[in-house]
Amino acid sequence: MFNTFDFLKLVLDTITDHIAVIDDQGTIVYVNKSWIDFGLSNGISQDTEWIGVNYFDACTPLEESEEMSVRSGIEDVITEKSRSFYHEYPCHSSAEKRWFQMRVHALEFNNSRIVIIDHSNITERKIAEDQALYLSRTDSLTGLSNRRHFDDFLSDEWKRCIRSQMPITLAMIDIDFFKHLNDSLGHHAGDESLETISEILKEFAKRPSDVCARYGGDEFVIAYGNSAMDESLVLMLKLMDTIRKKEIPNPDSPISSTITVSIGLATAYPGIDSTEEEIIKAADTLLYKAKDGGRDHIEFATI
Ligand code: GH3
Ligand code: MG
Repeated sequence: MFNTFDFLKLVLDTITDHIAVIDDQGTIVYVNKSWIDFGLSNGISQDTEWIGVNYFDACTPLEESEEMSVRSGIEDVITEKSRSFYHEYPCHSSAEKRWFQMRVHALEFNNSRIVIIDHSNITERKIAEDQALYLSRTDSLTGLSNRRHFDDFLSDEWKRCIRSQMPITLAMIDIDFFKHLNDSLGHHAGDESLETISEILKEFAKRPSDVCARYGGDEFVIAYGNSAMDESLVLMLKLMDTIRKKEIPNPDSPISSTITVSIGLATAYPGIDSTEEEIIKAADTLLYKAKDGGRDHIEFATI
């Protein structure tokens, strides 16, 4: 009795993965209950006959480039070019974000090749992965990018600017006499000030080619891809002014009773053999010059 079609069908219908079996022409020859239920929960009518329909016509439309790679992946399995195919893809509904994985295997049956396509919901894993990625890139106090993410971003942006022969500008921004703030008002007030400064900085790095990060302690960086000195300098002067006007107390600072910052601003035109280390070093040197020059000050140069 365990060999009957009805028994095996019952077993396959308990599986939560959505399974479709197709022939070597891509025509659906079998679907399990989860496949049908998934269709129903996505607005496909109860009366839909799946058998005989082309698999690609039946699937929720994928992005064009994705559909091409899925098609060729499945065709490779049909034609025995590869033993299996694996693909992860988003399939969001209006109510929720969802991701699925597709595993494709083939087998010989009655002298013809059939392909089993198994779709499973991997949303929980994807959300956990996204969360882990976010945490690995983010400074926990300020919510800005951390140094690791900044380094990766700058490296990519540097290469992009080499390819497109565009300038890139980097600002190193350090709070003046921040230690005095901690010592006078306490570490908690220090933390709050770092958060307030970060909120302001975010407003100055809004394009996709910008990144703003906490570089460490009371030091921050902003990189502007495809930006030359003149426009970046205007932004940084505005940033300094915005911070001053926020009047965050630093009562024991020798230069002002509220927070000020010093900035080193460097613009580079990345050349083919250059590395992003050059602009980091230049901005760092300019920052120290700004500190030596009395703080609450900006030093800038095109390298
Ligand atoms: P300068 O004008 O030369 O930059 O002087 P400074 O006092 O700002 O610089 P210094 O490097 O001497 O001190 C930075 C201080 O920042 C020391 C450190 O305790 C404090 N700090 C670093 N990270 C944090 C943090 O997460 N929270 C708080 N509250 N303080 C921090
Ligand atoms: Mg400082």
